[in-house]
Amino acid sequence: MKIVINGIHANLRFSSAHMIPCHQFCGGIHGHSYHVDVQVEGERAGEFGFVVDFKKVKESMRVICKKLDHKVLIPLKSDEIKFKNTEDNVEFSIGPKEYSLPREDCYLLPLKSTSAEDLAEYFALKLYNSLNSENNNIKSVQVCVNEGIGQGAYFEKSAE
Ligand SMILES: [Zn+2]
Repeated sequence: MKIVINGIHANLRFSSAHMIPCHQFCGGIHGHSYHVDVQVEGERAGEFGFVVDFKKVKESMRVICKKLDHKVLIPLKSDEIKFKNTEDNVEFSIGPKEYSLPREDCYLLPLKSTSAEDLAEYFALKLYNSLNSENNNIKSVQVCVNEGIGQGAYFEKSAE
């Protein structure tokens, strides 16, 4: 069985800025009002016959959304970004473009990019690990990170 959570209605949202280095249109810093849809598939289990408690899923997702909210998302493993500092200030260059941002305004992610695709994978793995630490009935976690309404990237993390 599968449970489904709609990110708009369940308030799994965050607003962040990012850039896709070297992309013709998305290379400049710009923002999205993201929302995250979630599906969790598994056997019904426990006292109430839940796949997983909706509350637990929403809490786990909100923790991640809150960390990213109102930050500039910076991918630490980008091939295009050359970092000079990530301590007090986040200083880096992308080709001829030099950036210096206050550390508190940034959220550094262990990703190659902050595309919807990479964020979906990031959220799905985090949620899968979080749920799997307490439940052994979860077969897969599916996350769609939407960059506003009408476009998103979907990633599924299944049990090995
Ligand atoms: Zn974008």
